[in-house]
Amino acid sequence: MRKYKSTRGEGKELRAASAIIKGLADDKGLFVPDTLPSLEDIPLSLNELGDLSYKDTAKKIIGAFFDDYTDEEIEACVEGAYHNKFAAEDVVPVVKAGDAWFLELYHGRTSAFKDMALSILPYLLTTAVKKEGEEKKICILTATSGDTGKAALEGFAHVPGTEIIVFYPAHGVSEVQRAQMVTQEGENTHVFAIEGNFDDAQRGVKKIFNDQDINKELEEKGVRLSSANSINIGRLVPQVAYYVYGYGKLVKEGAIKPGESINIVVPTGNFGNILAAYYASMMGIPVNRFICASNENRVLTDFINSGTYDARREFHLTNSPSMDILVSSNLERLLYHLSGGNGREIKTLMTELDTKGCYTVGENVKKGLSVFYGGFADMKDTDETIGKMYKENNYLLDTHTAVAYKVYEKYVEETGDRRPTLIAATASPYKFARSVAESVGVSNCQTDFEYVEELSKFTGVPIPQGLKDLDKREIRHKDVIEVNDMPQAVIKVLAE
Ligand SMILES: *Cc1c(COP(=O)(O)O)cnc(C)c1O
Repeated sequence: MRKYKSTRGEGKELRAASAIIKGLADDKGLFVPDTLPSLEDIPLSLNELGDLSYKDTAKKIIGAFFDDYTDEEIEACVEGAYHNKFAAEDVVPVVKAGDAWFLELYHGRTSAFKDMALSILPYLLTTAVKKEGEEKKICILTATSGDTGKAALEGFAHVPGTEIIVFYPAHGVSEVQRAQMVTQEGENTHVFAIEGNFDDAQRGVKKIFNDQDINKELEEKGVRLSSANSINIGRLVPQVAYYVYGYGKLVKEGAIKPGESINIVVPTGNFGNILAAYYASMMGIPVNRFICASNENRVLTDFINSGTYDARREFHLTNSPSMDILVSSNLERLLYHLSGGNGREIKTLMTELDTKGCYTVGENVKKGLSVFYGGFADMKDTDETIGKMYKENNYLLDTHTAVAYKVYEKYVEETGDRRPTLIAATASPYKFARSVAESVGVSNCQTDFEYVEELSKFTGVPIPQGLKDLDKREIRHKDVIEVNDMPQAVIKVLAE
């Protein structure tokens, strides 16, 4: 059976179900599989991928990673998560526009790619709880830059035996994102705005996880903390499935022959989505280059180019807020794999990041980074790219996906490499309606909600169900708190 161990080398090795319940390892590292499954072992050939439905692909991939789950359990999780919950034929459309193929990951209930994993995480977690005989109530703590929060709330609302608490930056999310979260229904859902940015929220959550006093107090109350952020391996693995699926669709469309390599472009924040692409390639999907696209918070671009990760820099609020991040948690997993599983080395690097705000990787890791290409696009580039793509191809990009496309154009210009390329399209344009509308020439609306309406009238692209009439729903979550008060907020919620 596959074991999951900490990137920092200490602590117990666990099977998948317990790693999913725990979220974070005892030594503060992240859980990684000791070996990655290969397509060959499943078995699954590149020739047959194109004929599999999304759900069948997901069952095979997730089942290969989480092999302590029975086939029936995986089947039930996948069906529960994806059946009739996505407003697209076969869950993830793959659409050609401009010079690339877009893997449209945003047709779930909250209109961002986070739904791909967060619609299945509650099933994986509640199944794990049963399998492990866990009797405590599970409390999901989540820091969000805007999209994870809503997708996690939607996934966990009304799920028996769980509470979910979300922290979002008070001044760092779009109006639509905020409205989605504060109108969330469900007695087990709790939402707090914090006076800080996403990194503060993420740090605060990690601190609560590692606070022994709080954990002891919660233990006595019969509560166990877990995470819906991409630090949870149960969140990461379902994302691998769509890259495998996307490759199959390119074969089916005749864009590539089985075995031919592609490039994958991912608009990146916490490094979870692009790491899932890397995992897909480790399983046997032929990938030439992983193109890591950032906005003005270009810490990853600089890291990939220099081998030095330096978070000591100005934080920018941009129009692609889900990528406004300076500390990308999942990078730790990549470093672990590139170092050949050297937990001691990773622990040293992460300690340096905590204490000094920067670190430089060794030669071996740096060499491994060469399959990544790092680039960034600023807000002006982003807006122009949305406008140009719409005008030339009648295809509407959201701000995050536009960052990805712009960086892809830079990549092609620099390298001349025009092989077929898959771009992760991570959000519906309507989630960031103001920027998108203004970029295609719609202006003079007051609120984002008006922009949603006007953008739809202008382009004829339908508004996703979950984003309709958001401004008319009851606001249920009004708390705004200081970062330092996050632990108290958790205790208060759980005392209710
Ligand atoms: C979360 C998010 C990202 C960044 O994904 P990571 O896995 O954190 O790198 C990009 N785009 C959108 C729309 C997102 O919601």
